[in-house]
Amino acid sequence: MRSTSSTLAKANALAELLRELDDDDLAIACRLFAGSPFGAADQRVLGTGWSAIIDIVLELSQANEGELSASYQKHADVGDVTEELLAAHGRQPEPPPLTLAEVVLAFEQIASTRGSGAKRAILESLIRRATAVEAKYLVKTVTGEMRIGLRSGLLEDAIAKGTGAPKAKVARAAMLTGDVGETAVRARRGTLDETRLHLFHPLGWMLATPVLELGEVAKRFPPPYLVEDKYDGVRVQVHKEGDRVEIYSRTLDAVTHRFPELLDPIRALPGAFILDGEVLGWRGERAIPFVQFQRRLGRKNVDADLQRELPVALFAFDVLAENGEVLLEVPLADRRVRLAQYPFAWPLYLSRSEDLAVAEDELPARLDAMFVAARERGNEGLMVKDPRSPYRAGRRGMEWLKVKRALRTLDVVVTGVEWGHGKRHGVLSDYTFAVRDNDQLLDVGKAYSGLTDEEIAEMTKWFLEHTIRDLGRYRAVEPTQVIEVAFDNVQRSNRHPSGYALRFPRIVRLRPDKPVTEIDTLETVRTIASAGDGSDVTGV
Ligand code: AMP
Repeated sequence: MRSTSSTLAKANALAELLRELDDDDLAIACRLFAGSPFGAADQRVLGTGWSAIIDIVLELSQANEGELSASYQKHADVGDVTEELLAAHGRQPEPPPLTLAEVVLAFEQIASTRGSGAKRAILESLIRRATAVEAKYLVKTVTGEMRIGLRSGLLEDAIAKGTGAPKAKVARAAMLTGDVGETAVRARRGTLDETRLHLFHPLGWMLATPVLELGEVAKRFPPPYLVEDKYDGVRVQVHKEGDRVEIYSRTLDAVTHRFPELLDPIRALPGAFILDGEVLGWRGERAIPFVQFQRRLGRKNVDADLQRELPVALFAFDVLAENGEVLLEVPLADRRVRLAQYPFAWPLYLSRSEDLAVAEDELPARLDAMFVAARERGNEGLMVKDPRSPYRAGRRGMEWLKVKRALRTLDVVVTGVEWGHGKRHGVLSDYTFAVRDNDQLLDVGKAYSGLTDEEIAEMTKWFLEHTIRDLGRYRAVEPTQVIEVAFDNVQRSNRHPSGYALRFPRIVRLRPDKPVTEIDTLETVRTIASAGDGSDVTGV
């Protein structure tokens, strides 16, 4: 697999291997390929330090410190170093050859053994029996390198190819169980459809797309809209069954111990469930600004003082599973009905949400008013969701839209244009633009999209006729076309002669009605930059 860069060839090679394994080995091999010997849903950790691994490798290979550091400098990966040193010194594995079942048994023993010496001894006995290449992958598994080595999509592809099961069903079972091993065996036996949800491993997150203009919302989907406050904290997925509660972060880590004051209240809610929500600093029925709350996030040790100083609340906005029933395909409106039944009480809340069904021309004004109200409540903005939508785990789509701050725009003039890429190939679609500083024009950014194909075609023609200098990809053009650009923020930057750059600029519209003498000035840009309202700091 390593010898080819083609993902198709990798998946085929892996599929071929998987076909040869019996069910037990199939499950183990898939988990090892995914980098987690016990399956992602299993929280056991090996807990062997790197220094123990290096000691073992030095001892078995008889290499010296100099060789070790030279090898490490070359590979920057302990697994690769292990292979190189063991092979260079011609070490032979002790018989009998390792089996996959023995490897997992040893990993289980390491996880359940306390004390670094005892863990080390088990790992050493494993590596003694490994060839140099086997040792390399054992070490990569222990150090977690395997987790980044093979994307799970590729593994799912290989399982589908190797068993003849449909890829989508493989992916769904892997998501529900968090265990590619179980998934592979089910795929082979044809029982993917009977897969049950396993709690206590995070499912993928549904993500939102930003809208820069409120008018854009109506273009994404028709009414009704579900409009929620956008809370400025950290996204969490809460799992609860019986007495067990876990809270997972966007990075898929369990952050349960960071929010001790939430655990008993969550435990007191009836049933088993997975909730999606936001944890934020919360005092006196109002959000603590994220910049302050952030101090708590950095701390591993959350003592009573910190809890008093920066108390938190959980705002639940979705429910993904309930008492064994998976709700991902249930429309959002119905998921919200279920969520509303939960007896939330401080510090747990149901997120604010309102149904909105208005005509397209009224929509921007209504959303604007709701946006202002959300800001006045101390929240970041709005989330506009499609009540008909399923929960698309792990996807960013147009069914969740986020409106973070009032739209800011600048009127600027186009100074240069570039040929576009992809479907914009053959048209001048990328514009560099400038603001005015007395009688000079100074570039502040470059933007790609936003105009219609028709507008781009018309502008291309105009720019070709008004090119000052043709520099290949880039053309300097007569600075007379005024456009309005929206952006997220202004940053200092030496990329442009103005000393500033717009963040995430987008062309809102052409302004043929405006002369260059009336475009915005460097002074305005400077004012926006220095007013930097900190709202740019987003959750983790
Ligand atoms: P952003 O981090 O700016 O991409 O915005 C998306 C994030 O907003 C989500 O990942 C959540 O952490 C957060 N968020 C706050 N309130 C809500 C809500 N009501 N619905 C969904 N996401 C929300």
